[in-house]
Amino acid sequence: MAQEPLSVLDTLNPEQRAAVLHRGGPLLVLAGAGTGKTLTLAARVAQRVLDGADPNRLLLLTFSRRAAQALSQRAGRQVQQALGLRSSSPDGAAPLLPWSGTFHAVAARLLRDYAPRIGLAPQFSIVDRADAESLMGLARERLGLAQANVGGQAAAQARGGRRFALPATCLAIHSRCLNTQAPLGQVLATQYPWCLDAHDALTALFRAYAQDKHAQATLDYDDLLLGWQRLLAEPTLAAHLRARFDEVFVDEYQDTNRLQAAILRGLRPDGSGLTVVGDDAQSIYAFRGAEVGNILGFAQQFEPPARVVALQRNYRSTQPILDCANALIAEAPGHPDKHLHTERTESARPQLVTVADELDQARSVADQALAWREEGLRLKQQAVLFRTSTHSAALEFELARRNIPFVKFGGLKFLEAAHIKDLLSVLRWAHNPRARLAGWRVVQRVPGIGAVSARRLLDAMDAAPEPLAALQAWQPPPAARAEWPALVQLMAGLARPDSPWPGELGRVRDWLAPHLERLHPEDHTLRLADLDQLQALAAGTRHRERFLTDLTLDPPEATSDESGVPHRDEDYLILSTLHSAKGQEWSAVQILNVVDGCLPSDLSTGSAGEIEEERRLLYVGITRARRHLRLMAPLRFHVTQQHRHGDRHLYGNVSRFVTRRVMATLERLAPAAAPADAAGADLAGLPDGALDLGAALRNTWS
Ligand code: ATP
Ligand code: MG
Repeated sequence: MAQEPLSVLDTLNPEQRAAVLHRGGPLLVLAGAGTGKTLTLAARVAQRVLDGADPNRLLLLTFSRRAAQALSQRAGRQVQQALGLRSSSPDGAAPLLPWSGTFHAVAARLLRDYAPRIGLAPQFSIVDRADAESLMGLARERLGLAQANVGGQAAAQARGGRRFALPATCLAIHSRCLNTQAPLGQVLATQYPWCLDAHDALTALFRAYAQDKHAQATLDYDDLLLGWQRLLAEPTLAAHLRARFDEVFVDEYQDTNRLQAAILRGLRPDGSGLTVVGDDAQSIYAFRGAEVGNILGFAQQFEPPARVVALQRNYRSTQPILDCANALIAEAPGHPDKHLHTERTESARPQLVTVADELDQARSVADQALAWREEGLRLKQQAVLFRTSTHSAALEFELARRNIPFVKFGGLKFLEAAHIKDLLSVLRWAHNPRARLAGWRVVQRVPGIGAVSARRLLDAMDAAPEPLAALQAWQPPPAARAEWPALVQLMAGLARPDSPWPGELGRVRDWLAPHLERLHPEDHTLRLADLDQLQALAAGTRHRERFLTDLTLDPPEATSDESGVPHRDEDYLILSTLHSAKGQEWSAVQILNVVDGCLPSDLSTGSAGEIEEERRLLYVGITRARRHLRLMAPLRFHVTQQHRHGDRHLYGNVSRFVTRRVMATLERLAPAAAPADAAGADLAGLPDGALDLGAALRNTWS
């Protein structure tokens, strides 16, 4: 017998249903994590389609491309189910909602549509943040600011010769002004007080930056939003644009900024057909100009005010996990008591796991992930979350060593970063001077040596009985003569059997340092800090060879940053920054470095407001977990990322957010220390030459 098709409303609770069925004026769903806000939004869209709305005229705005895709698929599946259709593709429906995406992506499409009529080159290109930074850097250079000291030579010297803000900072200031719609003076006074005396220079710089973008028919991310808002400020265009969409839906509204709120107001001035959902307790983007006031003041900006639906029941996590989340957020000053509860009353409490250091943490996290997999939990259903992309370095290292596949969101994989590859290539080449791939990379770091000379050198080394001797005898091209001897010397040092481990890493670092400074002038200090961290990691292995074998770097096919992304059917562990974990859920979640200095981050402890944002970040992390949650607290934590403070170690400081009240919801664990690296076997007494494996392998196919 054919099954009765499911109605979109069937599985929803009464409040969710009320939100789906609401008609007319603006609607706000303001509710805690995991209460079904996103599900309700998708159901509302699906219901509108079933009621006869044209999906081409529904606009869905989310915070990431991934979220837009998920939402569109969710709504599509609900429509199919309600119509009793079979899914046509493994991912659910073909895109049901052509206008579903991030604010930036939708803005780009609209601007392209209108470009010929609004004085934009129709083929305008869009630069990402990195390219925007380079553009800003070029303008800064041209205006002579790169060499300038803030406030003139004398003043700068009095302050220790402080330099003009780096391009990344200039771009951040620029972006903040636009996104918060605040004047430069105000942004400098509140966020960048140390740049106050650069007000006029920054204004000139931003003007030059804007002119450069115009001359190159280029828009940056902020221009997209600004352009969209400008369209809506022009009455004829605004009317045209408004008429294109019947309804607008926004997820994660708590993280929108003023500019985005202004765009929504421009699209739906009286709020009709506007639905927004969010959770003020999860607002985590104030540092990029998000304005939590948008959601808190949403209802009252309309006359009559918007309808507000609250959802109470959490469908994601077990009660003990929610107890922990509730205790955490209850400590936030001024937080309204918004208790999350569930009917899932499993009893296992989340764990606070104390470990010795980051290496120990990495081992423990990997062990636990495998143990859960043994219990039937696929790696994909597990996530490891951390405050900053670089905090996963030790874990990535451990996973690579143990051949556990993983995918990382919110930053480049540590071991794939160019400077890390540089350092490891030097080691590999020193270890095996016939490793061409490594040599190829290393010698081209020397200024004056390009592909042609590199090939000549490597050919010469290949042909020689003693490759190192060939390296030493080689005559570099004249342009490379000054820098070449340092590399030869380094290689000779590394070749000595008594080269200290991991101390020799320091030598490689020193050799690389000036090259990094030349190749990456803007962030070489951060890159050097990464190299220091690698040396700290290396201290856990007994010798160079072991270290390199564990890492199996540079497989020949791995030539781009895309490498290492497993096939979608394969199983892999999820690594993600806390910011990129927003809106997601996993059966098991482990959060790294729940220690002061990291959560809250040292970079954010400036103001009470910033600290509170860090607390909410931890709240976001905790509320991602369905069944299992582990908070990791290394007793010794290596802080390398803050060139403001230099290198240092922090000891034994569980995050201040784990208060007595929070602690009461946790089970405390301190796993036994992992066994040290097993010693090698004793080979004394074995006969030499019993087997020539090298020859055997070479002749396998002959
Ligand atoms: P976040 O604040 O993290 O974005 P959210 O409020 O958007 O969370 P959803 O992601 O929509 O919550 O839902 C959380 C989980 O609860 C999902 O797995 C969803 O399928 C499930 N869920 C929501 N509502 C119901 C319901 N009425 N019945 C069963 N499951 C539900
Ligand atoms: Mg959601």
